[in-house]
Amino acid sequence: MYRYVFGPVLSGRLGRSLGLDLLGSKVCSMDCVYCEVGPTTIRTRERKPWAAPRDILAELRSWKAEGFDDPDVVSLGGSGEPTLNSGLPEIIAGCRSILPGVPVAVLTNASLLPDPLVRRELGAADMILPSLDSLVEEEFQAVNRPHKSLRLAEIARGILDLRREFSGSIRLEVLLVKGYNDSGKNLDLLRDYCAELKPERVDVVTLSRPGTLDSAEAVDSHTLGLWRKALGAQAAPSGPGAKASASARLTEERLGEALAASLARRPQTLAQLAGALGADPGVVRKALERMVRERELDAIEADGQIFYAHPGFAAPFGGL
Ligand code: SF4
Repeated sequence: MYRYVFGPVLSGRLGRSLGLDLLGSKVCSMDCVYCEVGPTTIRTRERKPWAAPRDILAELRSWKAEGFDDPDVVSLGGSGEPTLNSGLPEIIAGCRSILPGVPVAVLTNASLLPDPLVRRELGAADMILPSLDSLVEEEFQAVNRPHKSLRLAEIARGILDLRREFSGSIRLEVLLVKGYNDSGKNLDLLRDYCAELKPERVDVVTLSRPGTLDSAEAVDSHTLGLWRKALGAQAAPSGPGAKASASARLTEERLGEALAASLARRPQTLAQLAGALGADPGVVRKALERMVRERELDAIEADGQIFYAHPGFAAPFGGL
């Protein structure tokens, strides 16, 4: 079982995305009400090797050695804010050498972007996906529950500075939580902000499963459509970019390992797992049923769908 490598998972934004967890535990500069990983245990803005780059890269080498097809993208994120790992340059360089030709994406809450050094380090990535949920101070505090030293204006400025300095792709994500950050004021501010930032893409999303707080609920589809139109966002996350080739040849044992690794971090449905692994849904279903029978996985009903989860998965479900 891997500790830092997870997936590939089928990401609405990235296709078949192999995740790297740069923290190893819930270390983050924020404690968002919608977080899928669960409550933040260490809320900090201190940068240090929270997880050793050599350990992360050793796992990535092992994953590669197993013979899986390359993913569409390697995404640096995981159980907290990846830019808090001061080994970021070494990790990005390692990804390039282990998986040459596979783009490296960084999913960030943008909190450290005011720091020029962090922006310089991120310059080695191909794609950066900063999130910015609200430009209204009270909403920012309520939805993201940031470390007390973080300033919203500086974060917003940091993303604009990154835009100027970074030659790769920037995709902004806005996650809407009903009653928290779906105000008209926020929409107006974000509309002007996006016009200035001109990101390659804006994704407006909402919770697909319950968040860290019970009070965190999804907005309705009408609101989502309105915001997407106003911000020039994609009509919907791009959906399966999955290459349906990857795992047709997986043996049952390796399929079980791949499913367990993918589910160790994030509960998923049968369709999501089959898409992410490029495997026949019937074969995946059989493997999942066996793993549930043998108590290697739990099958949990939520929102009218069956999610498969690692038995140790204690965090509430949240959106990808
Ligand atoms: S959603 Fe991201 S930024 Fe927010 S608490 Fe979770 S890991 Fe941190």
